[in-house]
Amino acid sequence: MKANIKSKPTIFMIFGGTGDLAERKLIPALYHLFLDSYMPKEFAIIGLGRTDYNDDSFKKLLLGGINKFSRSGKAEKDKWEDFSKHITYLKSDVNNEADYKKMSSLIDGFEKEWSETPIIIHYLAVAPNFFPIIASNLAKVKLADDCDRTRIVIEKPFGHDLQSAKELNVLLKGIFAENQIYRIDHYLGKETVQNMLAFRFANALFEPIWNRNYIEHVQISVTEDIGVEDRGGYYDGSGALRDMVQNHILQVLCLVAMEPPVNFDAEEIRNRKVDVLRAMRQFGPDEIRFNTVRGQYSEGWVKGEKVEGYRDEEGVDPESNTETFAALKFFIDNWRWQNVPFYVRTGKRMHQKASIISIQFKDVPHLIFPNQSSESWQQNRLIISIQPEMSIRLQVQAKRPGLDMTLNPVDMVFNYDGTYENETPEAYETLLLDAMKGDQTLFMRGDQVETAWDLIMPVLESWESKKSISFPNYSADSWGPETAEALIAKDGFHWFTMPIKKADKK
Ligand code: NAD
Repeated sequence: MKANIKSKPTIFMIFGGTGDLAERKLIPALYHLFLDSYMPKEFAIIGLGRTDYNDDSFKKLLLGGINKFSRSGKAEKDKWEDFSKHITYLKSDVNNEADYKKMSSLIDGFEKEWSETPIIIHYLAVAPNFFPIIASNLAKVKLADDCDRTRIVIEKPFGHDLQSAKELNVLLKGIFAENQIYRIDHYLGKETVQNMLAFRFANALFEPIWNRNYIEHVQISVTEDIGVEDRGGYYDGSGALRDMVQNHILQVLCLVAMEPPVNFDAEEIRNRKVDVLRAMRQFGPDEIRFNTVRGQYSEGWVKGEKVEGYRDEEGVDPESNTETFAALKFFIDNWRWQNVPFYVRTGKRMHQKASIISIQFKDVPHLIFPNQSSESWQQNRLIISIQPEMSIRLQVQAKRPGLDMTLNPVDMVFNYDGTYENETPEAYETLLLDAMKGDQTLFMRGDQVETAWDLIMPVLESWESKKSISFPNYSADSWGPETAEALIAKDGFHWFTMPIKKADKK
């Protein structure tokens, strides 16, 4: 979180203000920034949508969202009243040019009232097919051209493939400068993900061993226990590779693998991340065959309840070829990482909801202990858990208490919950505050998005062109298809899983 320095007066234009994202994430995040005194004295939130609300009924909708989704529970009456004074609703259709004039006059009104010219943040919380029309219409009413004060926040997905991502970049860059475009990947706002930078570059201990001489392999695993829920229609045109790997997982991988930046400037950090993506080995037909696995969940039982298979979910094609699970083995062809495999996997309806990075170090060069003393031998492992718990664990061997020399792996644990008393902010709080302050470090640059698409395109094209004959190939509440175990087992490793604590069980 940034230092508590007040931003300039700010206007949030939330396109899709009545939608799920606004209700569940954006408004609760802005409310917390207000409670924690991060909002400037003068700010306005303008909700835009087609539904017939007035200011009062719109505020009622948002209050319901806060009461349901906010990390601090129900809003206190007086605090909500103070906050909600800043909220306005404007019924508008993104396709209607005249409505942008109304937006413009609303903004003019605030400008006249306020002491300083405000920052204007256009937040596009709408379906991606509306991004081009909104950007073009904003340009027509001159709500886009001031590089210093207007910004546009684009939600994921950024493109459906390399071609569409390039087209969207061309369109946006024709209207906005790169420093006005905030491509959001909310994963980058998570505390533990941000902590990767602190952990690696604020400690002298790890950087000297952070390379192929000491690290044997890296795993990044982002698993969900839910299915597609009510997003079946959307998900069936997307799949695990697009939904998780192209964005969140590759972003996390970049933080693990990047070279030390010279300073903490947004451009410097983003350059180092693009360097990683550019050094990643391209997938040819052999790599796709041997280094990738796709899966789709079948029906099954989750905690005693029968759940549907993917192809039976609402909105999903009964013969769907869309993957709900993906596992890939990547290599980064540079001096630091040559021949160190990076295994990534993601899937829906898996046994556990967890996001974990596991870095396994090479074995000791020579074992001096007798075999019987080290039956549960485990090479050193650094485990960074993003969820369910936010922690960093270093697994080391230790002597078990007793009269004989028996070795056991034990964890040295840094857990956010036990270490810090402050409540952890939601990722959207961090990212919205950064957008207000004009800090793009945690947002994706255009070339970064395109390079990530470029990397996964051969896999996407191959999977789409060849219908899987084994789908569905893993049952609900499992760890994915057996072939995913084989992908890593053939190199002598296994997927790391966190023991499920009682509190994590639902
Ligand atoms: P939603 O369907 O709940 O909301 C869409 C909003 O767009 C509504 O407010 C609707 O009124 C508005 N809208 C639709 N057509 C319009 C028009 N012609 N003119 C004006 N407004 C119009 O969708 P959502 O879940 O809020 O998602 C919005 C975007 O955010 C999508 O791109 C989605 O991929 C992305 N996203 C959502 C989440 C989430 O948690 N919901 C998470 C990450 C990304």
